[in-house]
Amino acid sequence: MIPTKRINREEALYLLQDAPLGELARVAHELRLKRHPERVVTFVCDTNPNYTNICVTRCRFCAFCRVADESDAYTLTPEELAAQVKSAAACGATTVLLQGGHNPQIFLADWLAYIKAIREACTNIHVHPFSPSEIIYMAGQEQTSVKNILFRLKDAGINTMPGGGAEVLTERVRKLLSPAKITCDQWLAVMEEAHKLGYRTTATMMFGHIETDEEIIEHLLRLRELQDRTGGFTSFIPWSFKSGSSPLSREVPRTANPAKYVRVIATARVVLDNFAHIQSSWFSENVTAGQLGLLAGADDFGGILIEENVLRKTGFAPKISLENLLLIIKNAGFKPAQRNSHYQIIKRY
Ligand code: SF4
Repeated sequence: MIPTKRINREEALYLLQDAPLGELARVAHELRLKRHPERVVTFVCDTNPNYTNICVTRCRFCAFCRVADESDAYTLTPEELAAQVKSAAACGATTVLLQGGHNPQIFLADWLAYIKAIREACTNIHVHPFSPSEIIYMAGQEQTSVKNILFRLKDAGINTMPGGGAEVLTERVRKLLSPAKITCDQWLAVMEEAHKLGYRTTATMMFGHIETDEEIIEHLLRLRELQDRTGGFTSFIPWSFKSGSSPLSREVPRTANPAKYVRVIATARVVLDNFAHIQSSWFSENVTAGQLGLLAGADDFGGILIEENVLRKTGFAPKISLENLLLIIKNAGFKPAQRNSHYQIIKRY
């Protein structure tokens, strides 16, 4: 039965751990249909060209980062980045999700040059850049406040931000997984500041490593609390840890199973009663798990991802054509629609 009041911590944990999966998925799907009765599943045509893989933060789950003198370390020039985005735009990309490592050689002027070069090369593409940990790293680079960095980006025309780097929002997990990265409070504070300035952002969660179920629920509740205050999150995007060749892979070779992924999606739809959109991704899991997520509360299928490097470095490199993506959504019983980064529909199929 659809809950008539807000789910508390204990009830959320019951959903994640013990509720019969079919029943949980049915309730989550009903809630999704209540919010989005038209049975549309959205997706975005995007590209994710990471501007540098040099990173001093060295998260233990990351197979992407390099130190500056490694042979495959790179930093793109604005022209190189713009050329990559231009070729993705020619293949249909409407959004560029721009992220990179914490590189001591990159400053705000470089970020602004990247944005300018992309804009000049592709006038219509939406630039969706820089996760909270990059924003805080940049504030440190420039010896200024997060607010000032966000202002400067806003002046450059940026109004959405990806919610990467959240991993699992508990200090225990972060100390073990990414001890040099920002804290939970910092991640949430950047988001709060961004929302206050009018940015719309996503919120992510990477699970399936060392976290407990209680910590997944803590993550959801912290997002819900912030969303109550700001309303600035557009969507919740969970994905499971891919061990690849990351340092953590030697200790945590497991990957979350599809049933857990679907359970997380369905629990999120019930707990995150103030989030409009929940994403189930064909890309981060697999097509079948992605489809099942659509039947368990999700209403968004993620991006086509014309260019992506972070997960590819773990050896995980799925590809999909637009035709296939449309078919997969239709076969799950939904009507596909392309959206932008504000989750506005730009084309129906
Ligand atoms: S996840 Fe990001 S911050 Fe962490 S090491 Fe990789 S590139 Fe650096």
